[in-house]
Amino acid sequence: MDNATIAAIATPGGRGGIGIIKMSGPDAVMIVKAIFRPCNDDYDLTDSRNNGFQSHKLNYGRIVDPETMRVLDEVLVSVMRAPRTYTKEDVVEINAHGGAVALQAILKLVLEQGARLAVPGEFTKRAFLNGRIDLTQAEAVMDIVNARTDSSLKIATSQIEGRLREKIESIRQHLIQLLTHAEAAIDFPDEVDDIFNGRKIIPDVKNKVIRPLEDLVRNYLDAHVFRDGLCVAVVGKPNVGKSSLLNRLLQKDRAIVTDIPGTTRDVIEDTINISGLPVILSDTAGMHKTDDPVETIGIEKTIDHVNGSDLVLFLLEADYPVSDEDYRIFEHVKAKPLIIAVNKIDLVRDETDIDLPDTWSKYDTAFISARYGQGIDSLKDLIVKSFTGQNSIDLNEMIVPNLRHKISLERGLSAALDVVSELENNVTTDLIAINLQEAIDSLEEILGTNAKVDILDQIFSQFCIGK
Ligand code: GDP
Repeated sequence: MDNATIAAIATPGGRGGIGIIKMSGPDAVMIVKAIFRPCNDDYDLTDSRNNGFQSHKLNYGRIVDPETMRVLDEVLVSVMRAPRTYTKEDVVEINAHGGAVALQAILKLVLEQGARLAVPGEFTKRAFLNGRIDLTQAEAVMDIVNARTDSSLKIATSQIEGRLREKIESIRQHLIQLLTHAEAAIDFPDEVDDIFNGRKIIPDVKNKVIRPLEDLVRNYLDAHVFRDGLCVAVVGKPNVGKSSLLNRLLQKDRAIVTDIPGTTRDVIEDTINISGLPVILSDTAGMHKTDDPVETIGIEKTIDHVNGSDLVLFLLEADYPVSDEDYRIFEHVKAKPLIIAVNKIDLVRDETDIDLPDTWSKYDTAFISARYGQGIDSLKDLIVKSFTGQNSIDLNEMIVPNLRHKISLERGLSAALDVVSELENNVTTDLIAINLQEAIDSLEEILGTNAKVDILDQIFSQFCIGK
C-alpha cells in the first residue's frame, strides 16, 4: 500500500442536496487546512495540536482557492483523526453543495494541494489493509451499496457486523489447535496417543469443522440468490408477448412492444423485487430460425443467456396451438428449471381451451395476460417457489457466504474430509498435517489474511470510486 493521501468525490454524479469529497492519508488535514476558511471563531486553525480542527466534529466555513482567494463553496468539514476512522488513517470529509461543477472544482484544489485521486474501492481497501475490517466485511460494504432488496441488505449487514468472520474464525481456531497437536505428535511420537489420537479427534473434526463448513456451503446454495438475484430468462417465439410481460412485471415501458415479430433484438435486463427476492429478468430475441444477420446475433445471445440463467420463463400463446417453433424453443430450454407461462389468456374462453402436450404437465404453468395483468401474481408466486421450494428461509438467523467464500469453504471442507479419512486409515501424522494446513489456508483466504494481490485487486476494483 502506498502512503499517499487519496481523495475522491464520494457521492453520485449529478445534482443533489449535498456532495461529499473524501480524503484519507497523512496529509489530509494539512490539505484541508490550506483551502478552508472558518466562518466562526469556535476553533483556531493556528492551534498546532490538531491543526486547529477538533476531531470528529463538524466545522463550518468556506472553501477558498489559496492562489486566487476565490470562494468556491460554503461547506461543513469533518476532520477525523486516526485511528478511529474508516481507514484507520486521518480522514477528512468536505460536505459541499451537491453540484458537479462545485465538487469538481474543490476536488481539483485538493489534488493541487498534494492528494492523489483514489481508485475504486481504495478507501475500503485501506480499511482492510490497515486491519480495521477483514475481507468479508470489506465485501459486505460493497454488498450494502449494491443491495437490491431488504433481504440482500440483511445478508450484507450481518456480514459487515462480522458474523461470517466469527464463524470462520472459530473453525480456523479449532483447526489450528489440531495442527498444533499434530505437530507436537510429529515431534514427540511416543506421546502420540495422548495428543493426536484419531479416535478422540474424529468426532471433534466432524462436529467443529466439517458440519459448520457444510452448513455454510448449504446456506450459500439455499440463499445466495437473495444476495445475487435470481436470473430469469423470458423466452418464446416472436410476438408471444415477452416484452409485454417484462413491462407488466417491471411496471414500465422498458422493452419496445410492437406487432412485428423479432423486434427485441438484444437482451434487455432489469431487476424486480418479489417477496424480497431480487429477480433479474431478461427478455431476449425470439428463438427462431432466421436469415436476418442482426437477429442471428440476438438468437445466439439468447442461447447463451438461457444457459447462464437460474430459471426460464417459457412463453406460449393461448390463442394458438403449440407450434413447431414452440417445440424447437422448448428443446433449447428444457434442461433448465422451467416455468411455462401461457400468455394472452384474455383471447380464449378459459384455460380448458388450451391444449398443452402431456409431457409438459410436470412443469409449473401460469395462465396469464401480460396485456391486462391476469395471472401475474400467480406467476410471481411460482417464480419464488421455484427457488425456495416449500421452505421458508429466515435470513435473520442465516449467514450467507458469497461465491468466492463458497469456493474456499468447499476447498476447506474437502481437506477436512481427507483428514477424517486419513485418521480412520491411520495415515502418518505429517500427511494429516498437510491437509489441516490446507483447510486453514482456505479459511484464511476467505478472511483475506493470505489473499493474493490479484484477488484483492479483483474484489476492490468492483467498488465505486469514493468507497
Ligand atoms: P414479443 O415479440 O414476444 O416481445 O411480443 P410483444 O410483447 O412485443 O407482443 C406482441 C404483440 O402481442 C403486441 O401487439 C402485444 O400488445 C400483444 N400482446 C402481448 N401480450 C398480450 C396479451 O396478454 N393479450 C393480448 N391480447 N395481446 C398481447
